[in-house]
Formats: sequence, C-alpha cells, structure tokens
Amino acid sequence: MNNKDIEDTIKQIEQEVELIQHGEKPPDKEMVSLINSWAPDLLEECPKCDVPLWNGLSLHKKNCDGTPILKKYRKDLGAKQYYRSLVDAKSRTNLKKYKPKLYKLWRKNTWNPKTGNHKTGLTINHITPVSVCYKEEWNVEKAAHTNNLEIVTMNENLKLWLEYDRK
Ligand SMILES: [Zn+2]
Repeated sequence: MNNKDIEDTIKQIEQEVELIQHGEKPPDKEMVSLINSWAPDLLEECPKCDVPLWNGLSLHKKNCDGTPILKKYRKDLGAKQYYRSLVDAKSRTNLKKYKPKLYKLWRKNTWNPKTGNHKTGLTINHITPVSVCYKEEWNVEKAAHTNNLEIVTMNENLKLWLEYDRK
C-alpha cells in the first residue's frame, strides 16, 4: 500500500468508528478484529458496550454505562429521540446476536431513503411501535427484545404503523 491508500483506509476506518460511536451503526466485532489484524491494537473495544475506541482514548471505559453510544453524542438528542436511538441500537445488536439469519437478510437489502427502494428495501419493524413503548415506559431491553422485532419492507412498515395507530 502507498501513502495515499493508507490515508484513505484510515479515513474510512474513522468514518465507520464514528458511525458506531454515534449509535448509527451497531458495534461490529468482526470489523475491529479485521482492522487490528492489519494494524495491531489500533482499536480497542469497550468491555461493557463494545463500542470501538481509538487506542489510548479509554476515559470512556471508566464511566461507561453499557450504552453503545458515546455520551458526547447523546446530548443533542431530546428524551424521546434519545430513547429511540437506544432502542434502535439495541434492536440491531439483539438481531445480530440472536437472529443472525434475519440480521444478514436485513443488511443485504437495507431500505435506503436516498434510493427510495420502499417496495423491496428492508427495515427492522417494532411490533409495538417505539413511540408506544416510550409512552408506556417500557425499558430499552423490552422494546428491543427480538420478540418485538420483525424484518419487513419499508412499505409494509408504513402500513403496519398506520394500522397500529388506528386501533
Ligand atoms: Zn462502553
């Protein structure tokens, strides 16, 4: 690899790590071990929440509450939005851990608002909608339990949500 390639690779890693630290992507152990096999100990994972941290930035580890979103990225979120981000992150982690086949299916054809693949793009649907979980004060574990998750297309997701709302 020449210098340019190395720079690009580092930039890519930075972006991935940031998405995970923001809670926009679930922690990804495979990615971390792949990166560390290329550059030993470049990243370390928090033992409590699995978020990848740049080597040496381990202040987080001391104060971690187990939530896979770094605290500094949480403060902009309102309470409901924050709850939703926790449930979404936990749902992805649970799906990956307990329903790996479904997780792979979803990852293979994720709904993307930019391409507008509403008919075929897949989403993680919460059978009891997250807004209802929030109102009824379900804890994150319960709202993100695999019993409350299903993989449906974006079209179905919208339909289910509208139907739920009318009950
Ligand atoms: Zn942590």
